[in-house]
Formats: sequence, C-alpha cells, structure tokens
Amino acid sequence: MKIRKGGEMARILVAGGAGFIGSHLVRRLLVQGHEVVCVDNLSTGFLSNLEDVLGFPQFHFVEADISEPLDVAFDAAFNLACPASPPHYQRLALETIEACTLGVRNLLSAALRQGAQLVHASTSEVYGDPEVHPQPEQYHGNVGTLTERACYDEGKRLAETLCYEYHKRGCSVRIARLFNTYGPFMHRDDGRVVSNFIVSALSGRPLTVYGDGSQTRSFCFVSDTVEALLRLMALPAVHLPVFNLGNPREMKVIDLARLVLHLTGSDAPIHFLPPAAADPGRRRPCIERARRALDWQPRVSLETGLQETIGYFREVLQVAGDGFEA
Ligand code: UDP
Repeated sequence: MKIRKGGEMARILVAGGAGFIGSHLVRRLLVQGHEVVCVDNLSTGFLSNLEDVLGFPQFHFVEADISEPLDVAFDAAFNLACPASPPHYQRLALETIEACTLGVRNLLSAALRQGAQLVHASTSEVYGDPEVHPQPEQYHGNVGTLTERACYDEGKRLAETLCYEYHKRGCSVRIARLFNTYGPFMHRDDGRVVSNFIVSALSGRPLTVYGDGSQTRSFCFVSDTVEALLRLMALPAVHLPVFNLGNPREMKVIDLARLVLHLTGSDAPIHFLPPAAADPGRRRPCIERARRALDWQPRVSLETGLQETIGYFREVLQVAGDGFEA
C-alpha cells in the first residue's frame, strides 16, 4: 500500500520511528521508495533499531521531542511517539502525558497547517479493564483516572479527543487502536510480556507471571500491524475513522508462558509474582471494521510470529553473550 502525493512518492514523518513498531514502519516506507523523516527523542527508542537505514539518502533522523513545537515539512505522518510498555510509561509518567497531549496537538497542528494526513497510534488501553468482550470500537471503556496506568490510558484517551476536535476542524486524521503487538526489535528490557518471557526462556531464567496468569491478551505480529497502518493511511477520507488493529486470537498469559517454553525448548521454571497494578483482566479486539474497510486481517500465526521473535532474541543474546545456547 503506497502513499502518493500527486503521483509522487510522499515525504512521510514517522514520530517515534526509532521505537519497536516505528522502526518496522520506517523500513517498509523506505522500501516503498518514500522519503522518511523520523522524529524521536530516544527516551524508549533506539537508533540501533534503524542501524541498517541510517545512511540512506531518503532517510532523515531528527532527535526531538514531539512535545516541543515541530518544524518539519511532510505530506503524511504516522504518530507512534509514546512510551508504550507499562514499566516505561510508569517511570516516564509525566513525559507520557505530555507526548499524548502537547505532542499529539503539535502533530495535529502541523498536519492541519500543511494539509497532511495523520495516522495516530492509539491503544486498546483506552478500553481499560473492559466490561464488554471482545471490544468493539463503540465501547467507551472502563478506565480510572487515579491508577498506575492512567498516565497512558487517560493520555491516549485525551489524544483521541484531540484528534476528534482537529478532525472537526478539517484535519485528515485516522486513529489506530493497537492491541498488544510483538516481534523483532522489541527491546530485551522492554518489560512487556512477550519479550520478558522469550528473554527469560532463552537465558534459562524463571518466566515471571504476574498474578495467576489467567488474564488474557491477544497478540499481533508487527508486520500485520504495519500493514494495517499503511492501509489506514491509504483509506479515502471517511467520517472520523477509528479502527481496532490487533489479532483476535486471545490467550491466557500462563498459556503464553507454556508456549514460549515449548517453542524455545527451554526448561526454565515459571514463577508467579504479585499481580501488576491495575492490570486489565482480558482483552480481545473486535476487528470487523478493519476487515471490511481496510480488507485486512492478521496473517501471521502466533506460533510463526513467536518463532521469528525467538530467532531475533537468540541473536541479540548471543551478541550480548548471555544466552544459554550455542
Ligand atoms: N505480564 C506477566 N509477566 C511479565 C510481563 C507482563 O505476567 O513479565 C503480564 C501483565 O501483567 C499483563 C500481560 O502480561 O497481564 C501483558 O502485559 P504487557 O506489559 O505485555 O502489556 P499490557 O499489560 O500493556 O497489555
């Protein structure tokens, strides 16, 4: 799915392009022939994620915080700039709120000023601890303002409201509610469940299950997520488009731990730790809207995606010299 501006390949801004999903998106856009400007403050992203493209003439890296006024020309922009892993956004709570509010407003203003289109990455966290299952886009969520997750959940909710207000004022913005995404280029210390379990299994350390592991998530491989984001950008103008993007296959965290042990061939133990603060009990996207409007659904099975991610972490740990395997 290519993005064109009057027959030309577009100049595309990827805010948060040095992060996990952003770096995959940057690579896809460059392969398509676009000029790509990556803006990232490197608070949770890494330039090493973009090592292979840093020298490309079509690629530009700007180390900047989107919470500060932005002076970048672009035809289209993807906003993936925000800490997204619970330990990181809890450590960077105020910065997370700023990225979701000041940062999103800066991007929306720049997009409106330049007549550019914006795809904003929101999150399944806007549904909080859902009382409706699976979650359709119409569900308003069950969220608290005074919780350890609120900086992210409420930040992302306000970001959506900013998109709504700018859309009314003529800005062409689309909202992607991303459910748990995983794949290569997650950071080994990211803190999210897939990277934690794989790194532990490969290192022979205990897999840490928070609570009894009966909570569920639905895991989407990153290439499927990136494909959906590109399709969302290419969608003709529609009435305030908001889309769940995720894989509807739901799994208990304890079953994920067992699957990772099976796929890695590791005999690391499973340790049960106290539940994480304000941890949602279940989560599964309803993706009928994306299926219909984007002609999209996830293609990569959890087993295949995990194998690829395990292969990536094997290399990372070998380079670091702390995997248990040859
Ligand atoms: N989780 C876990 N062990 C870990 C990391 C996470 O049991 O080492 C659990 C966490 O409590 C949550 C689920 O896995 O129920 C997904 O957590 P993650 O941080 O990946 O994403 P999020 O909670 O934002 O969906």
